[in-house]
Amino acid sequence: MTDAINGYACAAPGAALAPFQFARRHPRVDDVVIEIQYCGVCHSDLHQAHNDWGNTRYPVVPGHEIIGRVINVGASVSRFRTGDIVGVGCLVDSCGDCPPCCEGEEQYCLNRPTPTYNGVDRHDGSTTYGGYSERIVVAEKFVLRIPDRLDLKAAAPLLCAGITSYSPLRHWNVGRGQRVAVVGLGGLGHMGLKFAKALGAEVTLITRSAGKEQEARRLGADDVLVSSDPAQIGPAAGRFDLILDTIPTPHDLNPYLSTLRLNGTLVLVGLIGPIAPPVHSGLLVTARRSVAGSAIGGVEQMQEMLDFCAAHDINCDVEMIRMQDINRAYERLLKSDVRYRFVIDMGSLKARVPAE
Ligand SMILES: [Zn+2]
Ligand SMILES: [Zn+2]
Repeated sequence: MTDAINGYACAAPGAALAPFQFARRHPRVDDVVIEIQYCGVCHSDLHQAHNDWGNTRYPVVPGHEIIGRVINVGASVSRFRTGDIVGVGCLVDSCGDCPPCCEGEEQYCLNRPTPTYNGVDRHDGSTTYGGYSERIVVAEKFVLRIPDRLDLKAAAPLLCAGITSYSPLRHWNVGRGQRVAVVGLGGLGHMGLKFAKALGAEVTLITRSAGKEQEARRLGADDVLVSSDPAQIGPAAGRFDLILDTIPTPHDLNPYLSTLRLNGTLVLVGLIGPIAPPVHSGLLVTARRSVAGSAIGGVEQMQEMLDFCAAHDINCDVEMIRMQDINRAYERLLKSDVRYRFVIDMGSLKARVPAE
């Protein structure tokens, strides 16, 4: 049993996104049916549409920063009712049995969690389609409660960009008395600054280009270092407890590692392939430093992050677009020309206005 849904899909590598009609399942007993109001635009959407990771199942309907209103629930759903405002992030299912799943770290499911789009439903084998669409049907367990205080448009990117920067800060117990550096000032980096500051740390932005000082301070940075300037990076040796490295492309980690103090950790949140040039072992051994990685966050931690945002008045800085403008938004995203996340007003899908 299915329902016909309007959305936007990419039909082949290199193709522009275009209107696409597809089917959603009727709700199972544990499903929540959500009318999508806003959907953030993540770099992963672009990578998946372009088949940059070689695993895209076409046609692909991207979108995993989803905010919407509940319009129907299955018989066993207990946490949500019609009318509730909810969110869905990068995952819609996992095995539920493996050790990471049992520890609430569904994103590290040993049997591969089911992504919100470009995945395979664990029950009926259908392809999962994401948030560039009118509605989505998701198991209750993977649906988040959106606190009343949050601005819904600006909250959408919390569901991927937000949790990706929040989770490592919590895992490494960032708090008062600690010094945190955020590398890169994009969708993830600008959230990293806000979260690290709200958690009580002293926060520094490390950026490759000068001229971002004022903007970084507005977002919560206490200090800014320009990584290309040896006169700034040299004196920062041994300074930071944690570095949140948000750069999405291969880059030299060695200059950053030298700025970590004893037992400090550099956390990568981007999938940048092999680390090149190689990390010098001396930088690790001489101060018991670590290079680590982190992926999104579990369902429970996502809810904690959303509640934390409501309590601390944190939101993403977003630029609203219409669904019809998605291809131009992708072009700008490729040039990092966005402050700091595009969010699609999904009401535009119904308006059927032509693209500009
Ligand atoms: Zn994402
Ligand atoms: Zn699992």
